[in-house]
Amino acid sequence: MDNKKLIYMDNAATTSVKEEVVKEMIKYLSEKYANPSSIYSISQEVKEDIESARERIAKTLNADRKEIYFTSCGTESDNWAIKGTASFLKDKGKHIITSAIEHHAVLHSMKALEREGYEVTYIGVDENGFIKIDELKKAIRKDTILISIMAANNEIGTIEPIKEIAKIAHENNIYFHTDAVQAYGHIPLDVKDMDIDMLSVSAHKFHGPKGVGFLYIKKGVKINNLLDGGGQERGKRPGTENVASIMGMAKAAEIATENMSENNEKMTKVRDHLIDRILKEIPYTRLNGDKVKRLSNNVNISIEYIEGESMLLGLDFKGICASSGSACTSGSLDPSHVLLAIGLKHEVAHGSLRLSLSEENTIEEADYVVDNLVEIVNELRNMSPLWEDFIKQNK
Ligand code: PLP
Repeated sequence: MDNKKLIYMDNAATTSVKEEVVKEMIKYLSEKYANPSSIYSISQEVKEDIESARERIAKTLNADRKEIYFTSCGTESDNWAIKGTASFLKDKGKHIITSAIEHHAVLHSMKALEREGYEVTYIGVDENGFIKIDELKKAIRKDTILISIMAANNEIGTIEPIKEIAKIAHENNIYFHTDAVQAYGHIPLDVKDMDIDMLSVSAHKFHGPKGVGFLYIKKGVKINNLLDGGGQERGKRPGTENVASIMGMAKAAEIATENMSENNEKMTKVRDHLIDRILKEIPYTRLNGDKVKRLSNNVNISIEYIEGESMLLGLDFKGICASSGSACTSGSLDPSHVLLAIGLKHEVAHGSLRLSLSEENTIEEADYVVDNLVEIVNELRNMSPLWEDFIKQNK
């Protein structure tokens, strides 16, 4: 295989934008650029197009058009659901339940609320990353106003039992929000069947553009605004609509939904091939996350006696884009809170590798990645005094 070819296996970070999506977006950046709030007919046409996008997106979730609110990203959707609920229901209660493995968009929203006097309980997970349901039930109090649990984890791919959690929330008269940023377009989500009150999505995780997302809010669920301004999004999320991105997101949503089972089948084959080969060919490795209830595009493996960042640099040198188990987005090298929550030691979490696939990745690419990974791990371990000590002790 050509060394110069880029092998992109970091689709949980972001995805490429599909050609059809780009084409759709260009139309709204060039011809149909009018502000949908203006009075003339071209604006009215754009307004109708946005409503059609809303309708098409709603359909993918079995939602109603009026339950979809466009936002600027998954982070905004999470912030809005959590902070909007907290401020709307502050007289009812100030206690919120979430999990220890949420994305920082959720965890840092919770921290912000704690600074304002709210109390948050962080539910632990088992060794595969499943929320401890008993712990969650015990955490419920009279003043609990919201339970926010992600649909699927962005690092280890574990799919949480959100239907069951929504039921527990509603039996206790509590709102249920789910961060479905990694799940949407990958697993079927039916907001009616799952009885979800709020659900966050981001377009750039399913071959749509960056900087656009939406929040589903069930009819009748009332939360406060995050932003104040004009009348867009029925006054709930003001700001001139990001028309091109909204239209691109609707296109990407339809493509992802239509091809979901075919894509999952393709990705599962590549995922399992990667997992099997890595676990077999590199000693002292372990798979993180559940084997079965796992996103079809997620591989997360801890490789002992390896420093994650060095491994990523080695892979990058071979044209492979991947991710490690440290919180590099925060600019620190602290090990990932998710890997620590499933019980990994700091040093093991540090040596973790996440490969996240798209339907375009092939078995041939997977083989190229594993062949290079084996070499890189050998080289790094040979330079590691810890590995040397370990080998001496085990001789
Ligand atoms: N929630 C999860 C689970 C994510 O994986 C991400 C992004 O990685 C986000 C929220 C934030 O989405 P965005 O990048 O659109 O702000």
